[in-house]
Amino acid sequence: MSYPQKKLIKDIDPNEVQKFKESFDNNITKVLTEVDEGYEESITRWADNSIRKAGIVVQATCLDDIVKTVNFANKNNLDFAVCCGGHSTSGSSSSEGGIVLNMRKLNKVRVDTGKKLIYAQGGALFGEVDSEAWKYGLATVGGIVHHTGIGGLSLGGGFGYLTSKHGLTVDNIMGATIVTADGEVRELSANKNEELFWAIRGCGINFGVVYEFIFKAHEQKEIVVGLLAFPAEKLDSAVEATNTWLRNRGIDENITFIINRLPPENKPTIKLVLFSNDPSEQVFRKKFSIIYECGEPIFEKVERMPYPKLNMLLDESSNYGIRKAVLSAQVDHFNISSVREAYDSFVNFTNEHPEATYSFIAIDLIDGKKIASIPSDSTAFHPRKQFYNIAIIQRWNTKHYDKIVYNWGKNVQSIFNKDGDKSLYVNFMDTTTEHVYKNEEMLKNVWGKNYEKLKELKRKYDPNVLFRKGAVIFP
Ligand SMILES: Cc1cc2nc3c(=O)[nH]c(=O)nc-3n(C[C@H](O)[C@H](O)[C@H](O)COP(=O)(O)OP(=O)(O)OC[C@H]3O[C@@H](n4cnc5c(N)ncnc54)[C@H](O)[C@@H]3O)c2cc1C
Repeated sequence: MSYPQKKLIKDIDPNEVQKFKESFDNNITKVLTEVDEGYEESITRWADNSIRKAGIVVQATCLDDIVKTVNFANKNNLDFAVCCGGHSTSGSSSSEGGIVLNMRKLNKVRVDTGKKLIYAQGGALFGEVDSEAWKYGLATVGGIVHHTGIGGLSLGGGFGYLTSKHGLTVDNIMGATIVTADGEVRELSANKNEELFWAIRGCGINFGVVYEFIFKAHEQKEIVVGLLAFPAEKLDSAVEATNTWLRNRGIDENITFIINRLPPENKPTIKLVLFSNDPSEQVFRKKFSIIYECGEPIFEKVERMPYPKLNMLLDESSNYGIRKAVLSAQVDHFNISSVREAYDSFVNFTNEHPEATYSFIAIDLIDGKKIASIPSDSTAFHPRKQFYNIAIIQRWNTKHYDKIVYNWGKNVQSIFNKDGDKSLYVNFMDTTTEHVYKNEEMLKNVWGKNYEKLKELKRKYDPNVLFRKGAVIFP
């Protein structure tokens, strides 16, 4: 089946464009073109390689702005993108010459403490959700970097430090208000528009623009976090100690195991983020005593802190700018020989290509029991099993290296794929172009048995594939 070719702003009647711009109150909602102040900022993204020169950017400030923009894009069959945190590296929240709905001004968050619900507009960042909820001693499941958008992260699955205890972000979505391709505003929940509610929890970017999410909030105390670095010679003993910890771990603790280079000398290093969901340092020391048996860390910082600060600890390695891509693998065990092979590959590659020095491999050892306790067909998110997520973060400077770095990322992915069933997490299969998503086999590795049902729903709610960015389902 073929779908209508997407048009650019320059392809449509300029009078139509002018009329569309004039339909907004310019004092409230900005509609920006290349010549306008604020345009460059509005197309900035986390990774430089995902910046595209949009024909028009609408900085939505209310629900009606979303409806108008969706209707305009649909009627004119425009290349259309939605941007929240702008963290996708493939450019899936950008458009070269088309129309972008920038959601960042829709970032209000409010908390209903009685019902323990968080209402967050679809342009908010997880840091904004964390801070508002924390005022009431509450938190929901977000990602581990505060400037990630709730839009993309929540719609693809979402995991973070609280996943072992409370599940995925999608498991904590209690409702949402979305605008579908036909311009309809629909409220979704377990008993309203159930099939769309099912679909947005794992495959959301295919079905509409989320104006507002409703998240379940949980009681949250202060926490203790340890940042430890060990020299490369300790790799084997650090993996062994981590595996011993894994055998007895609880749901209130986590380790993120990172292979990177430590500035300023940039020596290969093993970095561990130890998270204890308890305010006591004594409890922290007890939980992670086995890790300290590896020997003297070259760096150690243990701190009690409010929960929102936890998601700011990786700021240095996750800042804006330069070229970046993210690939992932899901493994069912923490295998020393794969970690060693990936480590050697990382060291050789970054020795050979110093401009990729600040790439890193992060192994997130979440406890998947909570994720696995929910059947795979109860939300669109499919890989409901015990798994550890490996994120291969590629960072470099020049376009010339795009393919070289991507091929290295694929190589590391294939090392870890031997320890899993090749399922993929849609939010971490984000490379420098959207090309990767054109492979249907890969999409089946993301949505598994839910893929056919998602195709049916796409046929029903977005038959002309208006939402055509990122991992697109073509019905
Ligand atoms: C530094 C960093 C840290 C990360 N950490 C984690 C983590 O801890 N856990 C995790 O699960 N993932 C994590 N990710 C992956 C992350 O989930 C994805 O990159 C996600 O797409 C980011 O969402 P965004 O809104 O920032 O991105 P954007 O680029 O703005 O959007 C990504 C996609 O979502 C769509 N979208 C955005 N907002 C909306 C909306 N309101 N309605 C409809 N569609 C929308 C866009 O159209 C686009 O297709 C991380 C990524 C980065 C770069």
